[in-house]
Amino acid sequence: LLQRKIHSTQLEINLDAVVHNLMFYRSLLKPKTKIMVMVKALGYGSGKHELAHTLQYHLVDYLGVAFADEGVELRENGIRTPIMVLTPSPDSFETMRMHDLEPEIYNIEMLQALEDYLSEDANEKPFAIQLNFDTGMHRLGFNEDEMDLLFNTLNRIKNKIKVTGVFTHLAGADEDIHDQYSKNQIALFKKMTKQLEAQLGYSVIKHCLNSAGIVRYPDAQMNMVRLGIGLHGVEVNDLKQEDLQPVSTLKTVIAQIKHMKPGETVGYGRKGVVEQKEKKIATIGIGYADGFNRKFSNGIGKVIVNGKQAPVIGNVCMDMTMIDITGMKAEVGDEVVIFGKERPITQLAKDIETIPYEILTSVSSRVKRVYY
Ligand code: PLP
Repeated sequence: LLQRKIHSTQLEINLDAVVHNLMFYRSLLKPKTKIMVMVKALGYGSGKHELAHTLQYHLVDYLGVAFADEGVELRENGIRTPIMVLTPSPDSFETMRMHDLEPEIYNIEMLQALEDYLSEDANEKPFAIQLNFDTGMHRLGFNEDEMDLLFNTLNRIKNKIKVTGVFTHLAGADEDIHDQYSKNQIALFKKMTKQLEAQLGYSVIKHCLNSAGIVRYPDAQMNMVRLGIGLHGVEVNDLKQEDLQPVSTLKTVIAQIKHMKPGETVGYGRKGVVEQKEKKIATIGIGYADGFNRKFSNGIGKVIVNGKQAPVIGNVCMDMTMIDITGMKAEVGDEVVIFGKERPITQLAKDIETIPYEILTSVSSRVKRVYY
């Protein structure tokens, strides 16, 4: 496949690299620690269910999605692995029950909505749920001072539910400066989960580490970790790049080449100006509607043409972008790498002051995904 000529923009996903990265993270885990992989947002951009199939085959214990619909999509495509739904809406309880999806219950309002739902639910099997405890992320989750309220409500529905897991999310696991804060979060989480388990009378899966946390806090693996960006080969914390393999390569092709004279301009707003010397300009088949951010305009973005770096000239358009290939060997139809091994996602993220997560998850659904 690598040798085959491409004709349009595509995102290539190397599933062997996924497996390599999974094995690497597994090597950091204690033998009994389970692994949940976050496959929300189209599997971090990789596609609807293909990544989940690879993970299921490699016996990942849990998958994490954001919405019930993402979980349904996985179930309808043959995924049987347990799935946690991070931000379910109460009106999707029925759907989650039907598809065996475990909602994250993160506040009293949602727990009460669950109680209402269960009062009309004749299903004898307990509804599996996960709880989120807020220990410092301050996004979602029960605070420590809400424990009594939580326990009272749980008590009322204890025969109809099964709390399978409880988790918290670290706010700064990827940065040294937040080390003490993360440790405090972990300590508070331990305290809160102890109270929860005493209340429930059974033990649950406790999890608090994301990719960065797995690397930094091996003693806080508890029963499970939640791997996300690391699976995609994006290095976090002090990992060496050799430990991980990049998974995704975003490519497009040259649609046209133009030779331009001094004084001429390129693209919308005439922002790309050809100054003293003639320039060779290539138009490539990717634009902001594909996820190539408009902030890459005017030299901020760089792409790879036949192994050489070419800067964007002018403004990124909706479906196309012009690049400066002056002095380079290139022809119409040649491949252009937007990101991949030759141009790391972390570099693109730096160029437009964002994070690799946004680069990955922005590749729009119209871009064809190819797996190998
Ligand atoms: N856990 C939760 C609750 C998340 O929201 C995320 C991702 O946003 C992750 C784990 C995975 O994080 P990472 O991709 O940094 O490993």
